[in-house]
Amino acid sequence: MTEKFTGSFTQQEPIPAEGIAAANAVMQHGRLHRYNTVDGEVAEVALLEEEFAASVGATYCLAVASGGYAMTTALRACGVQHGDRVLTNAFTLAPVPGAIAAVGGVPVFVGVTEDLVIDLDDLAAKLDQSNVLLLSHMRGHICDMDRLMTLCDAANVTVIEDCAHTMGAHWNGVPSGRRGRFGCYSTQTYKHINSGEGGLLISDDAEGMARAIMLSGSYMLFDRHRAAPPPAVFAQIKYETPNISGRMDNLRAAILRPQLRDLQGRVQRWNARYAVVENGLKETPGLRLVARPAAEGFVGSSFQFLLPDWSADAVAAVIDRCARRGVTLKWFGGAEPAGFTSRYDSWRYAPSAPMPTTDRVLAGLVDLRLPLTFDLDDCACIARIIRAEVGTVFQARSRGS
Ligand SMILES: *Cc1c(COP(=O)(O)O)cnc(C)c1O
Repeated sequence: MTEKFTGSFTQQEPIPAEGIAAANAVMQHGRLHRYNTVDGEVAEVALLEEEFAASVGATYCLAVASGGYAMTTALRACGVQHGDRVLTNAFTLAPVPGAIAAVGGVPVFVGVTEDLVIDLDDLAAKLDQSNVLLLSHMRGHICDMDRLMTLCDAANVTVIEDCAHTMGAHWNGVPSGRRGRFGCYSTQTYKHINSGEGGLLISDDAEGMARAIMLSGSYMLFDRHRAAPPPAVFAQIKYETPNISGRMDNLRAAILRPQLRDLQGRVQRWNARYAVVENGLKETPGLRLVARPAAEGFVGSSFQFLLPDWSADAVAAVIDRCARRGVTLKWFGGAEPAGFTSRYDSWRYAPSAPMPTTDRVLAGLVDLRLPLTFDLDDCACIARIIRAEVGTVFQARSRGS
């Protein structure tokens, strides 16, 4: 009998009991709005900000309504204006170019390498086109951050990091999100801590963070924040900055705080699952694994592999055969955007020239989620199924049938 997998690739773990209890307490007292506090009370949102800042060693943190909102706020706080060009990854998720479009910016796409990171040579060639880079650590792959920062610093390009897939990750020991002027995180259900929707923004830059706090809808209550610059920094900024409400509420913060405390434990569990899939797929003919550099401390919450230079029909056959055995794979090379996968040439509001090297990588790029509800046996089973189906299609292909 052929083995079938029956787990769900979209099923997350429940909210920890501690988070449910804290959320219940917020609902009992009814003060869900972050600035609705009684004398001496510190809001859950303010505590989350303080704890997240401490966890990555940032001076300031702001909790907001979504990861996308964190990115638009960072772009605005960096002074990006209507018509400005913003460098970003050709291989990322739709909310990234969407954040640039939201502030009236024009994305300039930078290519992806076979290691699934931003192509630093392509970046170097395009640095004179903009003074901001919205860098997406897409699918948790971190480029050589030392080289990237050297290039951007020399060209006076401000870096904003999209860390939706790298919360808990680092490059050479520096937490992801700590090299750029801002680091942006998502707490949406499919990311590393889950509040349904939500986002976090970090920075060491006092003026930039004061602007971000005003933008998020703080009214004149910025002194209720704990991971914020002192009130004096707001002296002018409070008059100059529009309120574009996108706050986080206490209910979400209450759910997130216990998850944040357990983040390192989750990272270990994800990486154990990742290692099982990686081992199971080693030396599969026709399949290329993505090398992970020693300097990269990644979080294996999803897995990617390449079927390099395969025909579209052959890749589609693998996706289809795996799906019939319960293994849901996403393909970034499909002609039409589907589910969560779209690509730079799907975003037609942001015209781009063809990128042949990037197209070649994306054409063979296959992706799967590894939710923590899967155990190690599940991961071994998934790898066996992919290995078998890639093998079947690859052999048929090499026989020319
Ligand atoms: C999910 C995601 C975001 C934005 O997160 P939302 O909270 O859904 O707005 C940004 N970048 C990447 C790469 C993502 O996957």
